[in-house]
Amino acid sequence: MPESIEPRKTTPSLISEGNLVARTLKRWFLRRSRVSAVQILSPNFFLIELQGDALRAALWLPGQHVQVDIGASLTFRTYTPMSWSEDGRTRMLVFLHGKGPGCTWARDIKVGDTCAFFGPHRSLELSRLKGPLALFGDETCFGLALAIRDGLPEMELRCVFEVSDLAESQQVLDTLNLSGAMLIERVPDGSHLVQAIAEMSRLAKAGYENALTGNARSIQQLLKALKSVPVESSRLSVKPYWAPGKTGLD
Ligand SMILES: Cc1cc2nc3c(=O)[nH]c(=O)nc-3n(C[C@H](O)[C@H](O)[C@H](O)COP(=O)(O)OP(=O)(O)OC[C@H]3O[C@@H](n4cnc5c(N)ncnc54)[C@H](O)[C@@H]3O)c2cc1C
Repeated sequence: MPESIEPRKTTPSLISEGNLVARTLKRWFLRRSRVSAVQILSPNFFLIELQGDALRAALWLPGQHVQVDIGASLTFRTYTPMSWSEDGRTRMLVFLHGKGPGCTWARDIKVGDTCAFFGPHRSLELSRLKGPLALFGDETCFGLALAIRDGLPEMELRCVFEVSDLAESQQVLDTLNLSGAMLIERVPDGSHLVQAIAEMSRLAKAGYENALTGNARSIQQLLKALKSVPVESSRLSVKPYWAPGKTGLD
């Protein structure tokens, strides 16, 4: 069982300095693409498709992430490809949680824009899990759920998501045909997590493996509760996607 899920900020410091070395690294390692489609699923969910020759040779597995150059002086934000096709297309579902630079990038994006990114990189480790799988997360993890559903169709998947707007999230999941997810409305004191803990514990007892993603603080609560089920570490995979007050986790 992981003892600490303190998120790391690992965007290479060289890159954030924007110096010559960083520019050279960018030229060598960034994959270049163009925005080939933007679908506004709701006010806060944008489905973005990228296309480019540099994407054809990529080796992608469901659960992996990319670090997108969002254009503001070598700033990167992390997103989860939902799919990756041999003709060099990938899709990401971006949740516009507020006014961070990643949200601004997604809100302003247009078909034909260039988009460069690092990756795909290893992220949530799913390869050692066999399923059935219970996934806990939030709006930032809808794309991950779709990547698992479509990329690992043999894996039975149950989703438990904490969300800010039940109606909007349900509408987006319906549009993407992700049925059966349990949506729990977030409340500021975190008491809604009782319901998430009960469902994830129930699924663990029923033989599901567990993947915990989304808000690092919520993951911490879930981990504590799952320890007492108990859930063995080999049946658990953890990846915080964001943490209150921290920016640009990868
Ligand atoms: C491996 C990985 C995969 C990810 N995949 C996706 C994905 O597919 N789709 C997606 O939408 N996001 C995804 N994220 C999360 C996304 O990278 C973060 O939400 C990121 O902080 C967004 O950048 P920003 O510039 O909008 O906000 P930042 O500038 O990074 O953050 C500004 C403030 O907003 C807070 N914040 C960040 N995210 C949220 C949130 N969701 N809700 C409330 N407050 C928040 C931060 O804590 C900070 O205080 C992923 C993250 C990781 C690490």
